[in-house]
Amino acid sequence: MKAKLVTQKALETLKSNTQKALNRSLDRHIKLAVTGFSGSGKTAFITALVKHLTSQATKQNLPFFDVVREGRLIAAKQVPQRALDIPTFDYQAASACLLADEPTWPASTQRINTLTLALKFNCESGLRSHLSPTSTVYLELIDYPGEWLADLPMLSQDYQAWSEATLELLQRDAYKSYSDSFLSLLATFDPNEKVDEQALKNLAQSYQQLLTTLKNETKLAQLQPGRMLIPSDLAGAPILQFFPVKPLKEITEHTQYQQLQARFEAYKQQVVMPFYKQHFCQFDRQLVLVDVLSALNDGPDTLQEQQEALAHVMQVFNYGKSGFLKRLFYPKIDKVLFAANKCDHVTPSQQADIALLLNDMLGEQSNDLRFAGVSVESMAISSVQSTQAKLVNDAGEQLECVYGKVLGEQQWTTYLPPQPPNHCLSAQQWPDHGFEFLSFYPQKARQGNLNHVRLDHALQFLIGDKLV
Ligand code: GDP
Repeated sequence: MKAKLVTQKALETLKSNTQKALNRSLDRHIKLAVTGFSGSGKTAFITALVKHLTSQATKQNLPFFDVVREGRLIAAKQVPQRALDIPTFDYQAASACLLADEPTWPASTQRINTLTLALKFNCESGLRSHLSPTSTVYLELIDYPGEWLADLPMLSQDYQAWSEATLELLQRDAYKSYSDSFLSLLATFDPNEKVDEQALKNLAQSYQQLLTTLKNETKLAQLQPGRMLIPSDLAGAPILQFFPVKPLKEITEHTQYQQLQARFEAYKQQVVMPFYKQHFCQFDRQLVLVDVLSALNDGPDTLQEQQEALAHVMQVFNYGKSGFLKRLFYPKIDKVLFAANKCDHVTPSQQADIALLLNDMLGEQSNDLRFAGVSVESMAISSVQSTQAKLVNDAGEQLECVYGKVLGEQQWTTYLPPQPPNHCLSAQQWPDHGFEFLSFYPQKARQGNLNHVRLDHALQFLIGDKLV
């Protein structure tokens, strides 16, 4: 009898140890990078994701998220994060804005943030279900300022290539009027002179001012160096005091040019590289939020620029082609979702068009990504709903409109959005009066519940396969 008990106990211990070892070997941590250029909706997305998973995970609310539709999600809750050196995403403050009586959008991402959700669920089948009927997956959400994402392409450029590309961008029609004062100051600067700290500082300040203006006034995504917009502890440091200059035929020692070149390289090595090595390479999945409607509002230059910026960001995955990035780091991301966000600024039947437009913007790059083994998807979403669809009878004709409270106004408005294009338009194809899509306040939560558009589709693509 005693021997039998001992054997049974030993067996149980063995089973428990095997279970622990196997559970450890099954990937139970998912690092999801929520990325996108500034203002693309990262803060609102994370807030909505946490809200829907922790308190609104019903079949009616998330019907396309398998673990929820199949009734297998037991519960989700925020747990302490593993990375102790990264500030925690302030979910309470952000959700309070969206859930207020007069809802407002939470403040945008200004620094890197993280938050971990533990998702406890009943296993569907497979290895896990034999070991234990339930499992817990830790979803680490990482949100970092869009400006930092824009720095990525700098890694593949030297100072001269960066200068040329940046000056070309600043002289485009859409940005020229903003760049004029910096460019005329630059015309008085002699890069061949010996180093004059004050002159470098003044021009760097003027360049920083220009980047800030471009950020506020346009939708230009490639604002480099990104840290100039959010310098934090680098404010005033020479590593951030550089700017583009016209290429020189010959570079002489101890000149201003050489100093700028050295600062540019130091910025890449000491600021950009560690960030990508520490964070970017650790991600498993990536969401790229794109605000295509604002780009359309801004005009053809901005749409083209956003397309270029996306292409640059995607190149990081293209390690098959790009030897230098392969040497630097090897991203392990195997799924990327490109989401045309804020899709409820247009009618439900127009939403497919903005997903097609985004797809067209991604062009061959998404094909290359697939070739490199990354699974890619694009869709139109709105993580927080800000309008309702409304049919309006106009002299017998049924018009599909949206209804919401326009940002900065007090009144609720019924509005007929312009038809968005479903592919990229050249400047010649651009409509004479351009596009004018409106922005809205978030919809008021009903009984504490937020609404979304296709957040469940996004979740299924990004993490559904890990919750089986
Ligand atoms: P971030 O800079 O990427 O963190 O962007 P935010 O999350 O702060 O969003 C910027 C702005 O985009 C917000 O103030 C809203 O006006 C709008 N926005 C963000 N998310 C959504 C969304 O899901 N739906 C709609 N309709 N608008 C959104």
